Amino acid sequence: MSRNFTYLANPARVIFGEGTLSQTADELERLGVNRALLLSTEFQGEDAQALSKSLGARSAGVFSEAAMHTPVDVTDRAMRRFEESGADGVVSLGGGSTIGLGKAIALRNDAPQLVIPTTYAGSEMTAIIGQTEGGQKTTQSTPRVLPETVIYDVDLTLGLPEAMTVTSGMNAIAHAVEAIYAENANPVLSLMAEAGISALTDALARLSTGDPRDREARSDALYGAWLCATCLGLGGVALHHKLCHVLGGSFDLPHAETHTVVLPHALTYNMPAIPDAVERLKRATGSENPAAALFDIAKNAGVPTSLRELGMPEDGIERAIQLTLENPYYNPRRLEAAPLETLLHNAWEGRRPE
Ligand code: NAD
Repeated sequence: MSRNFTYLANPARVIFGEGTLSQTADELERLGVNRALLLSTEFQGEDAQALSKSLGARSAGVFSEAAMHTPVDVTDRAMRRFEESGADGVVSLGGGSTIGLGKAIALRNDAPQLVIPTTYAGSEMTAIIGQTEGGQKTTQSTPRVLPETVIYDVDLTLGLPEAMTVTSGMNAIAHAVEAIYAENANPVLSLMAEAGISALTDALARLSTGDPRDREARSDALYGAWLCATCLGLGGVALHHKLCHVLGGSFDLPHAETHTVVLPHALTYNMPAIPDAVERLKRATGSENPAAALFDIAKNAGVPTSLRELGMPEDGIERAIQLTLENPYYNPRRLEAAPLETLLHNAWEGRRPE
């Protein structure tokens, strides 16, 4: 088999394990940060305060107003706090919303970022930032926002709510699935994707049907999330991501839940065109039908498996097809209206892929 590819890696220092939060001060020192502004959502404000206390003089205080989709007015307030407090770096403790705020600050002043992720969404490994102003979301990619240091601490994920564990995990899996058959796929990323999907699918099944605080399963899930996040940071996307962007943007559907519902159906659409990727996905999911295996994880966990449950109107399917065909992403199988309609009807009804 002939191989043509370009391999790229993003620079980042990654610390992974249990109890790794205690290395925050050392890692800030290594980064050359003397006073870090700690960022969080309001919900995680107490955790950020506790971390701030443990950092002593190395903390420039806590800003706990991070919000979904990185609103620019929140960033403006955070910038003022950063300057008034004499901070020279940020610590983002939380999920994609908090990490987005840290990136927005770095975009404006190039502050070094130490990120401590507490969900599986994966923003910590990407150079992508989306910001919202006046109801409009704009996304850009620049190495300026890539976090310098990432500390994964399994302990911080033990209490991640069960539904969010599964939908956030499926969101991560979707990045790895499409990296395997993306236009810019490469063998190293495919290895990471396979290992990431394998670790996450196995861990999600254990966490959703067994003990959600099982440390070993949580460790596997976070490890898988890191690998999948790397795929998001370096890989490409295809039909699945296009559909999720169209559905999220046009019908205001929730991000992680939409990924969870669509992934089995987008994969079913593409499977005839990606035989090598299917072999990888069979190994990763331990199933002869990877799309059905992904559907079953969501179904068994009791999270939504249909677009109907997410509030999408059935008569929106035509518009979604139109938008998908108007400005398509690369996809390994040709995009055609009739099979896309079948895909979206199956996703709308929540039918298990055969
Ligand atoms: P989130 O950061 O919005 O968190 C949702 C809620 O869960 C918040 O209240 C948060 O405080 C809470 N939470 C987080 N971790 C928790 C934990 N361990 N235990 C209990 N509660 C916890 O959710 P998310 O899914 O991580 O991030 C979604 C956002 O990230 C979206 O805006 C999405 O666009 C963005 N995102 C960006 C990228 C990128 O590369 N730029 C990648 C993935 C996601």
